Formats: sequence, structure tokens, C-alpha cells
Amino acid sequence: MNFNQTREEVLEDILAKPKPLCPHCSEAMSLWEVPMMNFSDGLGWGVPYLYVCFNDKCPLFIAGWDHIGSEYAHKASTRCLNYPGTDSFDCMPVFSSMGGTAQIIDEEIVAQQKALDQAIKDGFAELAECYTTANHARVLAMTLDALTPPRVRLKAAEMIGDMGVLESIEPLKNGKYPSDILRQRVEDSIALLHQKTFTRECPFCAEIIKQRAAVCKHCGRDVAGH
Ligand SMILES: [Zn+2]
Ligand SMILES: [Zn+2]
Repeated sequence: MNFNQTREEVLEDILAKPKPLCPHCSEAMSLWEVPMMNFSDGLGWGVPYLYVCFNDKCPLFIAGWDHIGSEYAHKASTRCLNYPGTDSFDCMPVFSSMGGTAQIIDEEIVAQQKALDQAIKDGFAELAECYTTANHARVLAMTLDALTPPRVRLKAAEMIGDMGVLESIEPLKNGKYPSDILRQRVEDSIALLHQKTFTRECPFCAEIIKQRAAVCKHCGRDVAGH
């Protein structure tokens, strides 16, 4: 997984792919939100979401009762888990048939996904409106806003370059971008903005200067030929 991704982006990626089937019982696995607290091994899973087979008739789960039950005083079993987006399967200890089920979030995810789809639709509609009314301030705000859905931010980042307003460059440079693809899109737009406004960055102080400036008006250094 990409560690620059937000939780929301991780979820979007997972939902875009088909659910894995449990290799023990061939049932579709359930998406499971990993609890914030660490697991009994104290290590945690290192990912926000896992797929888990919660089928009570799963051979792994049934066999686990006998196997673990004889080794430990308390009743326990294992369920099959999968790291989303990989072919990597593992076992997770559970201490009742309900163990872990509190975090099954398929239903919740569907609702979240619906809300996200709506936010994306609204976001694109707003961007189209901003473009026709030349509202670059709003497009800039959407590019910088961490709560704007990633896909809408990406489109806003592209659009802000097209709009060609010099004042957008500085805020864009100072923005925080959770993914490489968004960061790259913003850099492309900054380059386009320089091109459209006949400007560039001073190689010494990074302030914005005219493309053809011989001396930087900010730091006073000779920038001809740089
Ligand atoms: Zn299974
Ligand atoms: Zn300078």
C-alpha cells in the first residue's frame, strides 16, 4: 500500500477491486476495519482495512476450535484474513464466533461510498460552474482542501493551471498533498501557470520573477542565463 494515501483513498482503492474469496471455504470475504487498539500479539496489522472470512462453516474456523481449544484453556479459533489488494492470506485469532464481527463494515462502507459518490458529483458540478464564472479562488480552495474528495481535488488541481492566474502559484506551492499523483498534478499546474504568466521561480530565493528578468527583484541576484 502507498503510505501517502489517506484512509479514504485506501478505501476507494479497495472498493474498486473485487472481494477476495476465502481459500478455505470459497465464500466472499468481508471487509473489516482494523480496531485502533493493537491485537493480542501487540503488533497490530499495519493496515487500516483487512478482508476476513466470517463464515462460521469455514473449515479453517471449525478446525481451529479443536486445535487451539486443546492448547489453550479458553475457547478460541482462527479466521482467515487477506491483505486487501494482495494474494496474501493469514490467520487471525478469535475467541468466540462473534469475535471481530463488530468491525464488519460492509454496510457502513456502502453508505460511505454513496456519500462519497454524491460529494464527487457535487464537486465536479461546482468545478464546472467555477470554470464558466472564472472563479479561480474557489478552484484554488478546492485544490487545497483536504476534505474535498481526492478525485475532485485532482480535477481542481488541473483546472487551476488552466485558469492562468498568477496569484494561485504561491498558495499551491505551500499546499499539503496526500498522494503522489495529486502532488505531480499540482506541480504540472504550477509549471503551466508560470508559462501562461511569463514568470518563473528565482533559482536563489524561490520568489516569483519575470521569465526574462536579469536581476531578481526580491534577492537582487543576477538571474540572467539561470
Ligand atoms: Zn473461509
Ligand atoms: Zn531571488
